[in-house]
Amino acid sequence: MSQTYGNYIDGEWKAASSGKTFESRNPADRGDLIGIYPRSTQEDATDAIEAAATATADWASMPAPDRGHILARTAQRLDDRKAELTETLTREEGKTLSEAGGEVQRAIDIFQYYAAKARDLGGTVKSPSAREQNLYTVNEPLGVVSLITPWNYPIAIPAWKLAPALATGNTVVLKPASQTPEIARQLVLALDEAGLPAGALNFVTGSGSEVGEVLTTHDAIEAVSFTGSAGVGEHVYQSATEQEKRVQLEMGSKNPAIVMKSANVDEAVDIVASGAFGVTGQACTATSRALVHEDVYESFLNGLIDYAESLEIGPGQDDPDMGPHASQAELEGTLEYVSIGEEEGGTLVTGGSRLEGGQYDDGFYVEPTVFTDVDPGMRIAREEIFGPVLSVIPVRDFDHAIEIANDVDFGLSASIVTNDLRQANRFVDEIETGVVKVNEKTTGLELHVPFGGVKRSSSETWREQGDAALDFYTLSKTVYMSY
Ligand code: NAP
Repeated sequence: MSQTYGNYIDGEWKAASSGKTFESRNPADRGDLIGIYPRSTQEDATDAIEAAATATADWASMPAPDRGHILARTAQRLDDRKAELTETLTREEGKTLSEAGGEVQRAIDIFQYYAAKARDLGGTVKSPSAREQNLYTVNEPLGVVSLITPWNYPIAIPAWKLAPALATGNTVVLKPASQTPEIARQLVLALDEAGLPAGALNFVTGSGSEVGEVLTTHDAIEAVSFTGSAGVGEHVYQSATEQEKRVQLEMGSKNPAIVMKSANVDEAVDIVASGAFGVTGQACTATSRALVHEDVYESFLNGLIDYAESLEIGPGQDDPDMGPHASQAELEGTLEYVSIGEEEGGTLVTGGSRLEGGQYDDGFYVEPTVFTDVDPGMRIAREEIFGPVLSVIPVRDFDHAIEIANDVDFGLSASIVTNDLRQANRFVDEIETGVVKVNEKTTGLELHVPFGGVKRSSSETWREQGDAALDFYTLSKTVYMSY
């Protein structure tokens, strides 16, 4: 029997006011029901916001090091349960055990990092222009913040929003993606067990189209941090900024990896292919365009095809090289882009099909896919696919590569593989993305440096992670004190 779980509002686990629910199922085995969750209404979202508003004064006035202790204990709870959480993440989202273990560790590290940061919060002291005066700034929490998260990093992304929001003294309403409520619920449990006071964190599951409006426009909400698709994010931005909320959006992309002729081709294949096919291509930073110098194009393509065809694909719990898509809808989305690519005149050089037969029939598996003969104007070269599909485009030289790399609406992450120092530096200067990688894959981020994109990948307002996250969740006051 699978369990029915609640929303977490004012420290209590509660059913949705409508009594309605939805299911979370294993994408590698649709017969495996993970749990049943509240299909929340606007009324539930409002209750959660009001609980957060009531808790604000107490939480904000708790000494920051004490808030840090709660975050540190949360990290410890997550660490104690790392193996179980890793399994849950694989079971719910589909990524391999190795990928899931890395993500759970990231959540642990994030809580440890912001636990320590809570002790170091503060403003700046400057020289006043008068005698007997102090001039300094203090940073204050904003109040109630809404956090809306996607399914593809369903514990790391809630963690990287929650930890800085709570460390700085804000109270929170978290709405996880409907695809992955369980692993986010586990994070809430860890915070609850770590002693977080009632109301400081509230957790509401259910459809974003039902509760999203309240979570982004309610009077008591001061700020909204959203990660997800550009379409939904742009709608969130519009409604939240109309109500004068502070908004941070991180969204999709079309990340390029450039391979120049000075590159070691084997190394380039590893960098590009692991960026394209890791986590089944379901990363906002996944490589989806390889822009390859014509002198090394043939050898790169041969290596890439070998790499793609050698990948072992299967249920995440067997820890293969690549797991399934997270849902039927995601699988269909990828297959639709494969058809679009073929109709547009692209040549499918490997992959492109759903895997079928045996265990594959229980889940949403697709082959790693490579297209050639792709014109940069085609939809498969311009739109986010969010699956293991890579377009390989030959380029004449560095300038040609940069021109194609930048000629898209998105700008999250980009990489170049080169041994030419001048090209590497020009790449840093000329690429239009928020994350720039030289001789590294487009995926993979450190937690203590700013993260975010440009163009349609981001609201370009505030960065996430590192110290930048602390800025988003605080307001600075400037104090002139004469004595
Ligand atoms: P999504 O469909 O945009 O959903 C993201 C979140 O928004 C979910 O919690 C969703 O709830 C909620 N939502 C849906 N409609 C809403 C509305 N009208 N108002 C407020 N919230 C609403 O994205 P996804 O499919 O979960 O995630 C994949 C996307 O996220 C990709 O585009 C990927 O590139 C992007 N992503 C970006 C980053 C980054 O940092 N740049 C990181 C990871 C992922 P429901 O689940 O209930 O619909």
